Amino acid sequence: MPFMKKTARPVKPGRRRKQQEALWISPVRRIERVAAAGRICAITFEDGPCQLPALPDRFRGKPLTLVLAETLERYGAKGTFIVVGDTSENYPDHPGRAGSFAWNGAGWDHFPDFGRDSQGGAVHCPELISRLLAGGHEIASHGYAHIPFGWTPVLYGVRHCQPDLESVMTDLRRLHKVMEDGWRYPLRLSRPPRGVDSIKEGFSSYDAYALMGYQYLASGFDGAGRIPMGSYEAEVGAVWQPMERLLLEDPDAFRGQIILMKDGCNMARRTPVADGLERQLRLLSDHGYRVVTVSELLEQAPFRDVPADSGHGRAARRLLGLGWCAAFQDNTLRPEAVLRRGELAMMAFGWETVRRRVELVRSGRAPFRDMGPRDPYAAAAALAVETGAMAAPGGRFRPDAPVTPVELAQFCSTRLGRTPPLGGWEKISHGEFFLLIVGLLDE
Ligand SMILES: [Zn+2]
Repeated sequence: MPFMKKTARPVKPGRRRKQQEALWISPVRRIERVAAAGRICAITFEDGPCQLPALPDRFRGKPLTLVLAETLERYGAKGTFIVVGDTSENYPDHPGRAGSFAWNGAGWDHFPDFGRDSQGGAVHCPELISRLLAGGHEIASHGYAHIPFGWTPVLYGVRHCQPDLESVMTDLRRLHKVMEDGWRYPLRLSRPPRGVDSIKEGFSSYDAYALMGYQYLASGFDGAGRIPMGSYEAEVGAVWQPMERLLLEDPDAFRGQIILMKDGCNMARRTPVADGLERQLRLLSDHGYRVVTVSELLEQAPFRDVPADSGHGRAARRLLGLGWCAAFQDNTLRPEAVLRRGELAMMAFGWETVRRRVELVRSGRAPFRDMGPRDPYAAAAALAVETGAMAAPGGRFRPDAPVTPVELAQFCSTRLGRTPPLGGWEKISHGEFFLLIVGLLDE
């Protein structure tokens, strides 16, 4: 292999390492695949709804989104449609090279196509949204105008992106309002446009989704069809053949899986999803799968690593329901991991301190001598100390130190008004902690 030259951007002196490299307990969980007990999975469709017919049109001019809904329904399947609001404000612009990432616009995205924005999105296609909801399908947010949350050097050097967290929030709230005003439909799940997570000033899509009260809807299997191939038939094959191969190797390969598909054209202005979906559904139902909405999938299996019907799974689900942050940002519980002080603060105070974290990052002031303003646990730790649930002697919070029995007793008596028996342990795991808290709540 030839030597690959790294084109690293110059790093400002004194700049801290990215927090994103570590995993942290988070109110927003990135849902990618879950630990389902049975053969159940979900299919997500991005970038619609789409009023234009399938290309090539083998469905007598029916809107693509309707073709997808009817195909799903023939198999008793429910889809999750990750919709946009409207891309018609993304001008002036010009179309990029056909077959490239800029096929539908050089500076912005236009759905379903450049210059045809009025044929797509929830604002222009309310009848398609109504039809999806009537069919029992789920709607999730892909942002109002499908503008990436932040700049990324990969692929999109010259594309427009949101300038800051405020603009991201304005865009998300706009689509949220469209769904609320039009259908009384509360959006709960969202996927960032073009998969870009970073937002200027040290924020990320996790901050935006926490402010919205959303969960991050990712996917664990790319249903393909978006990359142009030699022919339409080849593209349809790319949609279902990898699935067939995986199922042959392991019939359980799609348990708890979330499949990514596109409610729109690929870069060659073809829609292999229209025929590929049928083949996927046939394979899945032949192997005994039920295709459900992502919300139902999460109802059956909320976490990535722990089954819902295990002791830890049940306890953690109960805590989630009470507004605790039980899982890491990748939706794992990691029940064997040692519970650390920063994690404890975040579990109890994460949701309450979403706004405070944003203020803290903007202020640039460190709340503790050993925690910077951008530390993901900084705001939760500050509230934990203010409420007396935890202590920070000498202005040090020690976020990475394991929680001791005495610290846990103080935390429980302050936060829950109940005191656990002082065990003979030195460290407590996440799993043991869930069971202990749920036990105290049931006393
Ligand atoms: Zn998209």
